[in-house]
Amino acid sequence: MVRGIGASPGIAVGQAFVLPNWEWDVPDNTTVDVSDLAAEFERLYQGIDTSKSEIQSIKKEIFEVIGEAESNIFDAHLAILDDPVFMNEIHGIIRRQYKAAEVAVKETIDHFASMFDLLDDPYMKERAADIKDVGNRLIKHLIGTPDVTLPRDTNPFVLVARELSPSQLAHLNPDHVLGILTLVGGPTSHSAIMARALGIPLVLGLEGKLNTLIQTGDIIALNGESGEVHVNPEPHTVQHFQSLKADWQQYEERLQDLIEVPAVTKDGRAVRLDVNISSAKEAPDAFSQGVDGIGLFRTEFLFMDREHLPDESEQFEVYREVVQQASGKRVVFRTMDIGGDKRPDFDFSLEDEENPVLGYRAIRICLDRPELFKSQLRAILMASHYGPVSLMYPMITSIAELRQANAVLEEAKTELAAAGIPFDKQLRVGITIEVPSAALIADWLADEVDFFSIGTNDLIQYTLAVDRMNEQVAHLYEPFHPAVLRLLKLIADAARRKRIGIAVCGEMAGDARAVPIWIGLGVFELSMSAGSILKVKDRIIASDETTCQTWLANILECRTSEEVREQLVQYEQNVILTRREQNNGAEQS
Ligand code: PEP
Ligand code: MG
Repeated sequence: MVRGIGASPGIAVGQAFVLPNWEWDVPDNTTVDVSDLAAEFERLYQGIDTSKSEIQSIKKEIFEVIGEAESNIFDAHLAILDDPVFMNEIHGIIRRQYKAAEVAVKETIDHFASMFDLLDDPYMKERAADIKDVGNRLIKHLIGTPDVTLPRDTNPFVLVARELSPSQLAHLNPDHVLGILTLVGGPTSHSAIMARALGIPLVLGLEGKLNTLIQTGDIIALNGESGEVHVNPEPHTVQHFQSLKADWQQYEERLQDLIEVPAVTKDGRAVRLDVNISSAKEAPDAFSQGVDGIGLFRTEFLFMDREHLPDESEQFEVYREVVQQASGKRVVFRTMDIGGDKRPDFDFSLEDEENPVLGYRAIRICLDRPELFKSQLRAILMASHYGPVSLMYPMITSIAELRQANAVLEEAKTELAAAGIPFDKQLRVGITIEVPSAALIADWLADEVDFFSIGTNDLIQYTLAVDRMNEQVAHLYEPFHPAVLRLLKLIADAARRKRIGIAVCGEMAGDARAVPIWIGLGVFELSMSAGSILKVKDRIIASDETTCQTWLANILECRTSEEVREQLVQYEQNVILTRREQNNGAEQS
């Protein structure tokens, strides 16, 4: 057995089809006659045009079959073909070195891709894959090589490739592809996002781990969640994976039956399940999962991928649209959390910093630029007239910051009231608790807010001193670290004692394993990405408060995260699975 990175959940077992190397073999000494330069440029432009129309048609197909977000991946590809720096380099090689267009493209891709590969940021590294993908498409049109075709009319197979591009994935028929295994790539790559959207199990990052070369026809068993891969396993392992696959399919089907089921524990505790979104467009999909509201609207995305700052009325339109789509369900707007890894494209005067996540970001920017902050607060207040809205400040580290933010809010309210513009006077105001200093003074902060929402993503990063974006220390990013659990308890206890609202909006809220921790702590509001809602609900309805409190007491005694995780596995096996079997037994008799 080898272990790669599980990047799209699900189980696959079947014969391998090894994709021949997709990078085209281009002789590097192909030169053209000086007299042919004009014709060479003409050939390049034709290749670019054909590539663009091909990308457009893939984009359209993906839009219709999978969805808008996935189809937008191909905008990045189109942008590369229009990128002046990329194109100038190709032009320069043709003009100055008299090399054929395909050679110039190949050299340019190699140059750019290796530059991105050298960067520490995993997101940028993965953009190298996009550049190769576009470049190879262009080369394909320049040298007239036919597409590598996948076998049709055969049994479904496990696709094995060195690296898979979003374009290649776009052509896959999920009915033919049981699973995918790649040597390189990361879980946040566009290919991984597409595989998850298509529901194809994917394991990546196997480079250097396989002790034998996989051949077409080999039997592969893989687990897209744990990253476990077996090549030509023993018959009993094949059987084991087949039964895991059947369980997985049953589980997925069972989850769909839960959409209309309320998230209530066995002893009658209702748990509010909200969804996190970053744009108004995501709202309709989110509501189709039967959620109670929007527990986190990451407003900063409104400020990204654009050339100008959105003004107050543009912000208001977006916020009102979300509130109206929520039709009476609550929307929690978090004020802009710009900075750190979220940097707008237009000039926001954010300087390069040594440690951006410890630097000029979120509420710190807002308090430094109160007019900018106030325009956002006014827009949110105006939207509150159209349905239930709460407001939340990110990255609060002290009482002083909270009071300063509230002072700007009061100014915004006074201005709106003076202008006769309606807004909800009872608007609830809370803070994201995501910095250890805030957790440590949670009891005092609780005196001055209506609710807390725990941002576990940053809370873990700051508590453990582990950069959440850095792949090299990813193994140290541990949600179940005892220090994190102690802080969670401190926050939950303070909220309960002071009788204010308490929710969780970090990724940990969507981790079904953590359900006994939340219920044990008395946290009954969880906000997560839409895809996690049903899995968490499934765990909630099989749990009860008293049992969770007992397990939590044991969990809080664990001195290592391994022990905590083991307790959570035991909880699943001893409580959840036992109850489910009893239920099944009762239904059958
Ligand atoms: C968090 O930090 O947990 C959170 C929800 O905010 P973000 O992921 O946007 O930083
Ligand atoms: Mg955060």
